[in-house]
Amino acid sequence: MQRQGHIIILLGPPGAGKGTQADRLSSSLGIPSISTGEMLRQECRSNSAIGLQVKSLLDAGQLVKDELIQEVVALRLMQPDCAQGCIVDGFPRTAAQARFLDKFLAGSAFCPPIVFDLAIEPEILIHRLSSRRQCPTCARTFQVVNGASNRCPHDEAELVVRSDDQPAAIRRRLEVYAENTSEIVRFYQNRGYHKLDASQPVELISQKVLRALGAAAGSPGDFARPLAATHQLYA
Ligand SMILES: [Zn+2]
Repeated sequence: MQRQGHIIILLGPPGAGKGTQADRLSSSLGIPSISTGEMLRQECRSNSAIGLQVKSLLDAGQLVKDELIQEVVALRLMQPDCAQGCIVDGFPRTAAQARFLDKFLAGSAFCPPIVFDLAIEPEILIHRLSSRRQCPTCARTFQVVNGASNRCPHDEAELVVRSDDQPAAIRRRLEVYAENTSEIVRFYQNRGYHKLDASQPVELISQKVLRALGAAAGSPGDFARPLAATHQLYA
C-alpha cells in the first residue's frame, strides 16, 4: 500500500500556541489542521446530543471522554484531505488516547506520528489566556491587547471569550493537563518526540518545527516553502 503522510501532533497546555502553530504549519505544508477542540465546539453549536454532553463538560472545565474524542478523530483522519498527512491540535490528551492513535495508525497507511511538545510556564499561560478571544463565526482564535480591534479581521464578527477560557475553567484544565502530560511524553519519547520552548517567538518555533520535519522526511526542500501570513492580530 502507498504510504501516506505524517501525522504531526502538537502537545502543550491550552494557550501554549498550538492553534497558531497548527495554522502556520497547515499553510506552510499544505496539509489540513485538525483541532479536536474545534470539532467538539462544532457539536456544541449544532446542539446535537453529543454536543449537549460536551458543553456541560467544557463549561465545568472538564475533559470529554476518550471514547467520544477518539471516534471523532478517527472519522476525521479517514477523510480524503488527510491523505497526505495532517496536523493534530489537542489530541492525544491522555495516554489512553495516545495508545488508541498508535493502534489506529498501525492499521492505516499513515507514517508514524511526529510529536512537538510546546512547553511553557503556567504563569505565562494564565496571562496569555486572559487575553484570548474567539470569533463565533469562523472559530479562529486571537490574542487581543489594549487598543486592538475586538472584531474578526475575516468577517467582522465581534470576538468573544470562550466558556472554557474563563479563569476557573482554565485552572481546572491546567491541572488535568499536568496530570496527563508526563505519561504522554513518556509514551512518545525516543520516537519522533521534540520538545520546544513555547515562550519563544511564534516565527522561531515554526522554523524549528519545519527544520525538524525536514530532517525527519530526509528532504528539507519539501518543508522549506515560505510561511504564509497567519491570522494573528499580533504574535
Ligand atoms: Zn471570523
